[in-house]
Amino acid sequence: MSEHGPIVIVGTGLAGYSLARELRKLDKDTPVILVSADDGVSYSKPMLSTGFTKGKDADGLAQADVDAMQAQLGIEIRPHTQVTGIDVDARQLQLADGALSYGRLVLACGADVLRLDIPGDGGDRVFSINDLGDYRRFRDTLGEGRRVAIMGAGLIGCEFANDLRNGGIEVDVIAPCDALMPGLLPDAAANAVQRALTDLGVRFHLGEVVERIDRADDGVCLSLSDGSTLDADLVVSAIGLRPRTALAADAGLAVNRGIQVNRALETSAPDVYALGDCAEVDGHVLLYVLPLMACARALAKTLTGERTEVSYGVMPVMIKTPCCPTAAYPPPADAAGDWQTDADGNSVRARFVSPDGELLGFAVTGDFAVEKQALAKEVPPLHG
Ligand SMILES: Cc1cc2nc3c(=O)[nH]c(=O)nc-3n(C[C@H](O)[C@H](O)[C@H](O)COP(=O)(O)OP(=O)(O)OC[C@H]3O[C@@H](n4cnc5c(N)ncnc54)[C@H](O)[C@@H]3O)c2cc1C
Repeated sequence: MSEHGPIVIVGTGLAGYSLARELRKLDKDTPVILVSADDGVSYSKPMLSTGFTKGKDADGLAQADVDAMQAQLGIEIRPHTQVTGIDVDARQLQLADGALSYGRLVLACGADVLRLDIPGDGGDRVFSINDLGDYRRFRDTLGEGRRVAIMGAGLIGCEFANDLRNGGIEVDVIAPCDALMPGLLPDAAANAVQRALTDLGVRFHLGEVVERIDRADDGVCLSLSDGSTLDADLVVSAIGLRPRTALAADAGLAVNRGIQVNRALETSAPDVYALGDCAEVDGHVLLYVLPLMACARALAKTLTGERTEVSYGVMPVMIKTPCCPTAAYPPPADAAGDWQTDADGNSVRARFVSPDGELLGFAVTGDFAVEKQALAKEVPPLHG
């Protein structure tokens, strides 16, 4: 392993900053440089879908600027600096304004939002919210607007629906699926969340897609596949994310759904590592905070001399729909078994049980959500 040159981390999201923090717990001296395409402001991305509920705009959600992070962690940060290429033989990053040599390189460059090319002239009123800058633009443009249409009924679409309603905004959710959060929640739990959000005033248009978005006098008019139309001030597109792999792929690194790394977070190139939303760790792409924190702890040890593999354990996903608190730990996609469900109104306990009686996954909503810790002790970890 080359010890020469700084540890360079691409990205100042939760993955990049968590790794820098873990590194500094173990080693105060090795030079660490973070390079980021954005402004480097530290924030907690999950809080973006709680802004209205907590009464915070983009400034309120910002935690620390670049100067504060540099001082706090004893690192160098280069904001507004796009990495355009990696030369793994020369151990160099290509930047818009020159080159940067590294001893060890960590890719923490996140995920791209999926975008639909929808006909109509209303495209500039469609917002994807995947970082603090996106959130700022959305809030600034919404201004006093009071009607938002959300495309997508996954975790992020549902969280924004709850949060915007808490802010007194009229919300329509349009999605092609028949039930909320497919892949994450079984139908019984999804229906409970949908009922609670409906009671809160969210209007759902499931089984539909948006076919056109046209400018209207004071906003946009969306044309849906059932022939209906609806008006909104703005549209939030929350149809999914894809790990950012182009930089790694162009440099010849192995890439599948994400940048492929083993459990020691090593890519196919020497002294190049990846973690966070951009990484596919031992076959798993997990776009959540707990996995990246576990990766940051393991990688900090590796980078300070003790090669360490990450262990994921059991990490239920908490869904921030306060009108119906929900937690889920989906079973493996290919697992044999059945969902067994108890329900009391919008409180649902769904357990996925194998033919030999083993609990492989669960979803709990409403009053049963408090059982998540107890259930988490019964299911097998993602890997030991
Ligand atoms: C609204 C919302 C709510 C969420 N809620 C939850 C939740 O409740 N619980 C949970 O576990 N997870 C949640 N998540 C997911 C979680 O926030 C992410 O998994 C996590 O923040 C990803 O962090 P990251 O550092 O990998 O990526 P990012 O935060 O996307 O950071 C990527 C960084 O890389 C930089 N970058 C990218 N390309 C380049 C380049 N070429 N050159 C230089 N810099 C580059 C970017 O500028 C950025 O600084 C939520 C996500 C969203 C959007």
